[in-house]
Amino acid sequence: MQSSNHINSINPAQLLGQNEGHLCYMSERVAIHKKMKSAFDMMVSAAKADAIELTIASGFRSFDRQLMLWNNKFSGKTPIKNSAGEVVSPAYLSPLELAHSILLYSALPGASRHHWGCDIDVYAPNLLTKNYQLQLEPWEYSDQGPLAKLSAWLIQHAHQFGFYFPYASFQGGVAKEPWHISYLPLAQQYQQAFDIELLTQTLNNSTILGKSVIIENLDDIAKRYINNVCIAPSNVILPE
Ligand SMILES: [Zn+2]
Repeated sequence: MQSSNHINSINPAQLLGQNEGHLCYMSERVAIHKKMKSAFDMMVSAAKADAIELTIASGFRSFDRQLMLWNNKFSGKTPIKNSAGEVVSPAYLSPLELAHSILLYSALPGASRHHWGCDIDVYAPNLLTKNYQLQLEPWEYSDQGPLAKLSAWLIQHAHQFGFYFPYASFQGGVAKEPWHISYLPLAQQYQQAFDIELLTQTLNNSTILGKSVIIENLDDIAKRYINNVCIAPSNVILPE
């Protein structure tokens, strides 16, 4: 029973961003999954040969960090944006509407692919002007954006190193995120290990804002955002 062994090999705490034993540090603030490092390094070298400094903007994120991001948006401390980059005013939204607006770009704590360490947001500082503040907004990666060259490169080459785009297109859940790439050999294991009971329990024991409305609607939220990701194309090359 190979497949069930695979599922069992995922540590539930890792799935939830509550364990860091699987990580290695790329810099003081960026950590990724140890088993992804060699594939990632190879991709960085290949990009460098094409004059692109492929760099991680965001790698592993813990449950507590995601909880803080969520609560800051839910309480209005940090702005919530729509896919056009416009700020959404939370004042006229019900708690459920507010949760949906946050979920367009921010995962629920416990359900972020960034907990796994094998999903990263990337950019290329050498394509940006000196004091440029990266927003991670779709226009930056579009044909007219400063990161167009990186975006085109990733679409052409990321699959050669085992990476794909889980948010390649908007399918009614999470927005299109051309900066978010996922290392398939690891990500597919974490994705399969998703456990809604475990998530419910974890959120229940947390200080998440909007807790009752989230838990009441968790089946829908999981269907629309957590499990509604793009399928990896068949040309993704898996390492031996
Ligand atoms: Zn991301």
